Amino acid sequence: MRVAQLGSGTPEIAVVAGVHGDEPCGVRAVERLLDERPTVERPVKLIVANEEALERRVRFVDEDLNRAFPGDPDAKTHEGRLAHRLVEELDGCLTFSMHSTQSHGEPFAIVNGVSETAKAVVPQLPVTAMVETSNFAEGRLFSEIDTIEVECGLQGSETAAQNADRLTRAFLTAVDALPGDTIRSDLPVYRLTDVIRKQDADTYEVFVDNFAEVEAGDPFAAADGDTQVADEPFYPILMSPNGYRDVFGYAAEKLDVLTAPPAAD
Ligand SMILES: [Zn+2]
Repeated sequence: MRVAQLGSGTPEIAVVAGVHGDEPCGVRAVERLLDERPTVERPVKLIVANEEALERRVRFVDEDLNRAFPGDPDAKTHEGRLAHRLVEELDGCLTFSMHSTQSHGEPFAIVNGVSETAKAVVPQLPVTAMVETSNFAEGRLFSEIDTIEVECGLQGSETAAQNADRLTRAFLTAVDALPGDTIRSDLPVYRLTDVIRKQDADTYEVFVDNFAEVEAGDPFAAADGDTQVADEPFYPILMSPNGYRDVFGYAAEKLDVLTAPPAAD
């Protein structure tokens, strides 16, 4: 784990990259901040979490770090021990953690409950949606630390790295660590309700777009040609044919749209 800091004093804000070793976008954003060393108005902790997995270009060494929290100093797995150290480093910090996906190119935010902090900060980020995943928080970083996660785009893409950079700067501006103004936009809010499992098969297909409502009776995915049909309407999120080993993705409901205040003349 690499730990660095911008500014002096005890940070209450942190930026975390590389929770997953096959998602390099956030690492680029952190390295750029370390190269440029912008003058900050509040100290910021910068962390590259799973360096071992990043070096090997794998999601994890022993187990998924974002399912291993709170971790344990004597855990048998690399990620179990790392989770514990990361929680110690991030104690007391509002944390911004960057990820990327195989399912969706547009950045969106993931939060553990629609808190006042989430409502204040997330509409200032260049994201198209906020997804509330408290039904599936177990083992994740934000079960221990106040965290806003962002999905920056498609894993390994140049666009995801550029998005990570823009998202980080917007976050640091929103929390008054960097000077300047952010742009607020209307933001739909979704809550994950169900896991969409997939059976063991050779080929997988997904017929629907993430964040576009699926109607009852619509076919939405297939495993070896065996089609799954929606019983009820839902919004697909993090859905992809091959992103995860045993699930297609998640079903969500739409909760709300946070509206931007009208611009002053
Ligand atoms: Zn990830």
